[in-house]
Amino acid sequence: MTAGKFEVADGWVLQAYQYALDPTPAQRAALESHAGGARFAYNTMLRAVKANLSQRDAERSYGIDTADLTPRLSWSFQSLRNDFNRRKHQVAVREDGTPWWPENSKEAYANACKNLAAALKNWDESDKGKRKGPRVGFPSFKSKRSTRKFAFTTGTIEVEADRHHVTLPRLGTLRVHESTRKLARRLEQGTARVLKATVRLERGCWLVSFTCVVERAARRPAHVKRVAPVVGIDVGVKDLVIAATPEGDEVMRVCAPKEFKQASRKLRALQRKAARRQGPWDAPAKTRREPSAGWLRTQRAIAKQHVRVANLRRDRLHKLTTVLAQSFDVIGTETLAVKNMMASGGTRKKGLNRAIADAGLGEFSRQLDYKTIWYKSVRVRADRWYPSSKTCSGCGSVKAKLTLAERLYVCDNNDCGLRIDRDLNAAINLARLARAEQSACFDSGGADRKTTAPAALVAAKPESSNGSASPQGEAA
Ligand SMILES: [Zn+2]
Repeated sequence: MTAGKFEVADGWVLQAYQYALDPTPAQRAALESHAGGARFAYNTMLRAVKANLSQRDAERSYGIDTADLTPRLSWSFQSLRNDFNRRKHQVAVREDGTPWWPENSKEAYANACKNLAAALKNWDESDKGKRKGPRVGFPSFKSKRSTRKFAFTTGTIEVEADRHHVTLPRLGTLRVHESTRKLARRLEQGTARVLKATVRLERGCWLVSFTCVVERAARRPAHVKRVAPVVGIDVGVKDLVIAATPEGDEVMRVCAPKEFKQASRKLRALQRKAARRQGPWDAPAKTRREPSAGWLRTQRAIAKQHVRVANLRRDRLHKLTTVLAQSFDVIGTETLAVKNMMASGGTRKKGLNRAIADAGLGEFSRQLDYKTIWYKSVRVRADRWYPSSKTCSGCGSVKAKLTLAERLYVCDNNDCGLRIDRDLNAAINLARLARAEQSACFDSGGADRKTTAPAALVAAKPESSNGSASPQGEAA
């Protein structure tokens, strides 16, 4: 596993610890300033790159030889950073000529250049067909509405001993809302090391995320009991997860998070309330106007509600994936092509799309991947076209068609005639598939197969879309 150029040693994993900051007004201004500085550095260098490209294009159109063109600006991080450091004395100054760039940590500018270098590289490789996945566009300028974000990789990055403060370069010591106990303890014991601190503004709240390498013994915690050796889990629309054994026993059923449903009712009420207030748009006159205090108040309540839902959902998903990864040795799942499911289908799929987005299936899959490694269980993904829902768990016959509306699976085979909950049926099929694949893997192993087989399985099923190996936002 690698993080940029950093090699993660055996027994160590990348893990992010995220905390909400509680800055003083002065610190809030400093945070804004750093984010603005990072955006400025990014845009300045992107402008330089673009100008260089169009200069060369223009020269080419005059028939100048390739060798005589203005040299191409290097897109490497080092060179972009050095270039910005030369330019900042002219560009990062106020109208009266006093420089403002020394007010922020130079790390903020450097990391912005690093991000730009990465964005240019991704575009270049995508353009030449060397990059997997969807096409990557040419980087665009960051506007004032872009996410406010900056990062530190060197300098004083400390988690304070009182468990409620962190220290960052130039910004000093900031209070955090939650206890940093879990990370602080690891840092004190030497089982974690901070690689990077990223600060960003999310829904009006400043967050700091420490990317760390953490030493983890891959095993199930002593206090957790194994529920079943092999299960299949089906991620449905109505119930978020159903786990079943190959023998056909349902061992776990977790309903889809209803937080969003409740909260969306509350949100609609708030939005109706906002509609009765005087907003910033005067529809009859077709002009902008100053919104009323009541409208602004309601907007703040709406934003707060969104934050609440996001937090509830994150918490719920983390607990669920932890329980799954700890309770079973082998977990069979579908390969969830969430992007495809969300992209296609018109109004008919609206309900499903919403449920998928609501349940955060992509995130679910990602968490399950890294937590099965943490707790030494194995995830077996079914082939993308494996008909887990259409196959009868009684006789093995495959239905030609099964609509999403059919919640009950009824077998067409007259000799069988099985009637079973649709999602349970799929879970049983996935459990059997996982068991079969697992034993095939053991059989092909050598003398040391008990230890090598699970690792081989994990290696054979890499995460497809998300290149990052870093589990974000988890504090375990
Ligand atoms: Zn059947």
